[in-house]
Amino acid sequence: MKLLIAGGHLIDPKEGQNSGKNLLIEDGKVVAWLGQNESAPEDAEVLDATGLIVAPGFIDLHVHLREPGQEHKETIASGCAAAVAGGWTSVCPMPNTSPINDNAAITRYMIEQARTAGLANVFPVGAITKSSDGAELAEMGEMKAAGAVAVSDDGRPVPNAGMMRRAMEYAKDFDLPVVDHCEDKSLSSGGVMHEGKVSLLLGLKGMPALAEEIDAVRDIILAKETGAHFHIAHVSTRGAVEAVRRAKNEGINVTCEVTPHHFTLLDKTVEGYDTNTKMSPPLRSEEHLEAILEAIKDGTIDAIATDHAPHHADEKALEYDRAPFGITGLETAVGLAFNELVHKGVIDLARLIELCASNPAKIFNLKGRGTLKVGSLADVTIINPNLEWTYRNADSKSKSKNSPFDDWHFTGAAVTTIVGGKIVYRR
Ligand SMILES: [Zn+2]
Repeated sequence: MKLLIAGGHLIDPKEGQNSGKNLLIEDGKVVAWLGQNESAPEDAEVLDATGLIVAPGFIDLHVHLREPGQEHKETIASGCAAAVAGGWTSVCPMPNTSPINDNAAITRYMIEQARTAGLANVFPVGAITKSSDGAELAEMGEMKAAGAVAVSDDGRPVPNAGMMRRAMEYAKDFDLPVVDHCEDKSLSSGGVMHEGKVSLLLGLKGMPALAEEIDAVRDIILAKETGAHFHIAHVSTRGAVEAVRRAKNEGINVTCEVTPHHFTLLDKTVEGYDTNTKMSPPLRSEEHLEAILEAIKDGTIDAIATDHAPHHADEKALEYDRAPFGITGLETAVGLAFNELVHKGVIDLARLIELCASNPAKIFNLKGRGTLKVGSLADVTIINPNLEWTYRNADSKSKSKNSPFDDWHFTGAAVTTIVGGKIVYRR
């Protein structure tokens, strides 16, 4: 099985590569970079990438695949189909399944389901505490041995500093990053959108930026104390990114990710009471969005992750107050990154690839991924930066259609997705 990706522009930020190269893949691995006039083995299948960008496979550090337990919203197979259609070769599902992924058996089950689907790689994130209820640490070592790449109690953040300190000490022993959805619920409980002028106007209960900032600062102090690697999930506030910037300058082992909706939409989008604008953390006001863009630009933010959170239409068809948090995101992320970041000049293509591939691989220690250097695994995302297209919820590969970006026009898309040397998606 030989595949030659010919005529493309190869960008691999980790290798400092940014020019035309042909890529030769054999048995699931990259075996050579060839000049575009250099001869290639005659028995290789040729994929024409003329005019396209060839990048290391994109890795989404934060998704919800709902299996086991809520297969009416998504399955690992349907989530992986949405992932590869969006250009993601690997996804990292959060542990808030039912039951919670707090043990090796569930971690193994998720990986097995992904293998059966044969689309994207799945690297599960295990729970920090048993049942994510904040009381007792989960068996991190066993989950790691089964394939978990990080730990998190996403959605039900570890409520007290004492438990988080023990969690970081324990996770450090296993070399597992600790991912926190930073939200001090004593400040945000009952809130349904960002607390500010718009929430007052709409008469909806707010979640203050402060709730994220306080937890982020708490965890940064604990990371400094314990030496653990702390990763902030879906950072959304000025205060939190400023805290990360300071921490990085101090040499503390902290990283963070941002979602496409937080660099695109403002809290005023909630004005129509569309429940597909309800997510946690909520859409923020302009000062926060500006701070996020600045942090994407200056390197404070390390990764783009979707927080893909499918919900059935009936569940989202409730009043704003009662609808669940979350939106789908796997198929719109690359389009949004092009529209809002690349084409507006916030970042260049190499930085986009760093945010979606090189850095995510480093953050979760995914060996042989996030690069296309010779010997690495052949996960490849091929991009057409100029393709104009429209996203439609009805066409989504996800089982759920809860995206606020229905009918949005984009310029730029992933057009071919290759996982382990196999073409798994072609637009
Ligand atoms: Zn979360």
